[in-house]
Formats: sequence, structure tokens, C-alpha cells
Amino acid sequence: MAGFRFKLFPYLASTMNSLTDFEKHVLLEKGTELPFSGEYCDLMSAGTYLCKQCGTPLYRSTDKFRSSCGWPSFDDEIPGAVKRTPDADGKRTEITCAHCDGHLGHVFEGEGHTPKNTRHCVNSVSLTFVPDEGEVPARASKETAIFGGGCFWGVEYMMQQQPGVLSVESGYMGGHVRQPSYEQVRTGTTGHAEVVKVEFDPAKVPYETLARLFFEIHDPTQADGQGPDIGHQYRSVVCYTTEAQRETAEKLVQELRAKGYHVVTSIERAHTFWPAEDYHQNYYANKGTTPYCHAYTRRF
Ligand SMILES: [Zn+2]
Repeated sequence: MAGFRFKLFPYLASTMNSLTDFEKHVLLEKGTELPFSGEYCDLMSAGTYLCKQCGTPLYRSTDKFRSSCGWPSFDDEIPGAVKRTPDADGKRTEITCAHCDGHLGHVFEGEGHTPKNTRHCVNSVSLTFVPDEGEVPARASKETAIFGGGCFWGVEYMMQQQPGVLSVESGYMGGHVRQPSYEQVRTGTTGHAEVVKVEFDPAKVPYETLARLFFEIHDPTQADGQGPDIGHQYRSVVCYTTEAQRETAEKLVQELRAKGYHVVTSIERAHTFWPAEDYHQNYYANKGTTPYCHAYTRRF
């Protein structure tokens, strides 16, 4: 390992890199970056991911896959580079750089994403990507927004109509059960909300436009339900993936309150996104109908 490291990355491996405050928070204090906020979340270019702190090669791009959970995901590590340690509560297994002990994230097994059945869920900020020779990393201009406004079929349908939106996916967020099924979430006891994950091009549609639309396609004054759909899983929620999104959402809630709306929407930090079952995706488009539960109402 040492020889490999020295040969390929002598400039990085020779010293420990100095870290920013946020890098220290994650690598040294075992912090977690906001999902969908990291720069390597969707990067699929060919290359090697090194430990941000010590420069040790940890992961290869050939082991990276799209899990849609919100953090870079790998189904294997470079042999010997990553150490596994069960968390104190025994629920999860932490992964750290075997060379410098820097915190990377957690590893999960049995989720079925790839034949290796393993997901290293790694903070982007713990890594430095070095592209293969001749490889130019393609970074699309893309941002992720998460909204929960009742039945996800309707919110998904309305968001898909918005120019600048690249993709919309229905799923679950915010509960205490891993990989929840619809049958579990519908009981209203797992803590999850039905949400949509909206990927958009911020150069074509700013987050504020989508957030305003969100407040106008569902009723932000109804607690724990939308229309006929009643239950905690149907609550009104904005899950922000950046601090700027949080500020925008709070500003819009204030605007609506100033207009007399008793807004109950909660504004929460985004957590792991669990995609809903296939039959929930593109529900109205596949069915050729329009939503019973969502319609546009001007509120701003
Ligand atoms: Zn390291």
C-alpha cells in the first residue's frame, strides 16, 4: 500500500493536508455533510478518491454507483484502505481511513444496490478526487431540492411540469426505519414523510421558484395531511440540502404568514432519501391521468 501510494500520489501522501473547519468537523469529529450537498455525490468520472486528510487512495471510480441516498456510494474499497468499526449503539458500522483514522461515513450491507450488496456511504468532504490521466471530470450544474406536501404522486406530477427541472423521484425521508416500504410508511408510525426529490438546473430555475411553486401546489396550512390523505407521513415539509435553501424556505414561510396564512410547514435538514417502490414513480404520467390531490392555487 505504501509503495502504491508513494508511486502515484507522492505530493499528497508526503504530509497531512491542512483541513478547513468543516472538513475537521467531518473527518475528526465524525460529522456528516448534508445529503445531496457534496461535490462528488453524482460524479461518475474515471479516477481515484483519496483521503482528504492524508492522501491515501481509498476508492476507485469503478466501484462507485448511483444509490440516490444523497452521498457518494461505493460497493468496494481499495484493499486494506478502509477500517470498519461498529458504532457504540451497534446499529451502524463506521468507516475510517485505515492510514490516518479520518472519518469517512458508514458502510451498509444487504441493501441490494449492486451484486456486492455493500454500500460505503461516504462524505464527499472526506475525499479528494484525482481524475485518471486524460479524464476531464464532467460536473453538470445540478442542485437537489426535497419537498413533502402530501401524497407524493401529486407533488411529483406538478414539479415535473416546471422548466429547468431535470428529474423528480418519489420517496421517503425523515423516519427511523432504514429502507422503509410503502406498507410501513403508510402506517404513519415510521416517522417518514412522503417526499419528492427534485433535481434541477439552478441556471434555468432558481430554488426559490420551485419552493414558491411547492407552497402553491399543496396546502401549507393543513397539519399532518393533504385533503383526504390524513397521517403524519403526509405532513408539509421542506428538507433543505443547503443553508441557502433553508433561508429561502424560511423567507417564504414568513411571506405567507404576513399574508395571513397559518403555515404549518416544517423546515428540516435533509436526511437519507429512500426511493419509493417503482410503481409509485411517474404515477400519473404512467396512468395518463392528473392528480386528485394537488392543484395550483396562487398564494404569493
Ligand atoms: Zn487518511
